[in-house]
Amino acid sequence: MQKLSGCCLCEGIAYEIAGELGPIFNCHCSKCRRWHGAAFRTRATISTAQFRWIRGQKLLSRYYSSGFVVKHFCSACGSNLISTYDNELDKIGIPLGGLEQSPSNEPEGHIYVGSKSPWFKITDDLPQYDTWPGSHAKVRETR
Ligand SMILES: [Zn+2]
Ligand SMILES: [Zn+2]
Repeated sequence: MQKLSGCCLCEGIAYEIAGELGPIFNCHCSKCRRWHGAAFRTRATISTAQFRWIRGQKLLSRYYSSGFVVKHFCSACGSNLISTYDNELDKIGIPLGGLEQSPSNEPEGHIYVGSKSPWFKITDDLPQYDTWPGSHAKVRETR
């Protein structure tokens, strides 16, 4: 079984993920851009059972970015770690930037392209979605 690990910038907090990651998307929403200080956040959904903290849990801080989304980050170095969801307790959102290994799957598309940063140009051929790729999301034409 695939085992991945990751840590924060100061390495005070470390975590481990067992098994395959869920679908990986590059999220261009304004919250992800602000949280990561980047053009987009590459993230996957995993189940809570796959995830465990290895060390440093006492360094964790939390911030509610909406009524039910909790962002967990390192209080010492500010690294963004995981998202949890008060309305879906069995799921975790994990950004791939902190991983030390390459997961077995690759990004499948760009999401929330409707709120993409105006200065960033998507140059790959992955599918683009205005919002979350569900029944209501509109697929944008790629290039
Ligand atoms: Zn840290
Ligand atoms: Zn986002």
